[in-house]
Amino acid sequence: MGVRTHLRTEAIVLRRTDHGESDWIVTLFTRDFGKIKGIAKGARRSRRRFANTLDDFCCLNLIFSQRGRGSLVFLESSDIVEHFGEIRLCVEKTALASYLVELLDAFTPEGKPNRELYETLRGFLILLNAGAPMGNLARFYEIRLLAACGYDPALDRCARCGTTMASAPSLVFHAAEGGVLCPACLPAGPPGLPLSQGAAKTLLLAKRLPIPRLVSLSLTPQTARETEEILGVFVNHLLGRELLSLQVLRQIRQFSIDTSRKNK
Ligand SMILES: [Zn+2]
Repeated sequence: MGVRTHLRTEAIVLRRTDHGESDWIVTLFTRDFGKIKGIAKGARRSRRRFANTLDDFCCLNLIFSQRGRGSLVFLESSDIVEHFGEIRLCVEKTALASYLVELLDAFTPEGKPNRELYETLRGFLILLNAGAPMGNLARFYEIRLLAACGYDPALDRCARCGTTMASAPSLVFHAAEGGVLCPACLPAGPPGLPLSQGAAKTLLLAKRLPIPRLVSLSLTPQTARETEEILGVFVNHLLGRELLSLQVLRQIRQFSIDTSRKNK
């Protein structure tokens, strides 16, 4: 039998599935080891060992061990850092938190540490739990996640030739090119998406500000539409699909708009 090394880190639960009659397979994003997938033996039969620490998007202190060279680790014990109870009380907050973790899951391979990405997810869950306005949080999270994963879109310079675009009257975004293009580099073929300077500058600022200060940043209805469109198209282009949790979030928001109209 191989020697078991116990490792300790802080982690956030990305998803969990049943395994056999008594176990869970849990995917977590850890502060120090990146994404890991682990088995929680007996967790479904006896809730005492892990209590509610393995709930979706829960933040926990984790001890796990690796046996041999397989990628599946063994979850040994855990205790709660933050359960994010306020998020769980609200359907829209829960849907948004599910989108934050699913997006991170989709962009990360297993076993590649990324401290900035960990702090980004943790920081946004804290904001959401504290009741920050939700309208633009997903956009600010998307731009920061893309930057932390190395897919930072070019918004103030041409993605092809690097010409500064900071004073151009208007911008055109091409997802396949990785950002905005200057007039000389615009390709023939399908037009890109229009992006105003206001929208581009807000996204650049959203990338730089400390996460708690993002609550002071707002988008006009027009810049909100533009940023949702370009980031949505860019993320879908990179992933090759649209995430289910984003569709759910949109449906919940539409439902709450319809309901509030009816009630007026
Ligand atoms: Zn150019």
